[in-house]
Amino acid sequence: MQKAVFLDRDGTIIEDNGYLSHPSQVVFFDDTFEALRRLQKDFMLFIITNQQGIGNGVLTPQEVEGVNLYIVDLLKKSGIHITDVYVCPHTKDDRCICRKPKPYFLHKAEREHGINLKHSFVVGDHPSDIELALNVGARGIFVLTGHGRKHVWEIDDNAVVVPAIGEASVRITGKQ
Ligand SMILES: [Mg+2]
Ligand SMILES: [Zn+2]
Repeated sequence: MQKAVFLDRDGTIIEDNGYLSHPSQVVFFDDTFEALRRLQKDFMLFIITNQQGIGNGVLTPQEVEGVNLYIVDLLKKSGIHITDVYVCPHTKDDRCICRKPKPYFLHKAEREHGINLKHSFVVGDHPSDIELALNVGARGIFVLTGHGRKHVWEIDDNAVVVPAIGEASVRITGKQ
């Protein structure tokens, strides 16, 4: 069975600059490329992102898709393979089945890609990313980039907290 790292998008692998409607707004963190290269030696990589801007009518699904394709393509040019990008387009009020921390997309990955969730990780800058991990028996890594610093007090004392994606990748793989 495969192991996976489920990466939050905004605030985790790219800067959280609010609702992104165009690839030109994407700013990768400096350590994202090295971190994902390190992770993909042992793990399949997925992006999982709540994009409530769609549900709010601020973003179109096409705009979000365009940004995601750009991210996946740019990573690909650096030799990094993202297996799938999972997007929840709903708002909290929609009470959908797929918004993080609901485990819908992780179970989809489990089914469609043979992922062993118990040996997988979720990395994110929001408490819902850590909750998502707990909901499937995976391990959560909280980063202080993006909204991380603002929300860190909401995280359980036992949670793993690291400065950024680079340290997360070292922590997960045990390799420098
Ligand atoms: Mg985030
Ligand atoms: Zn949803």
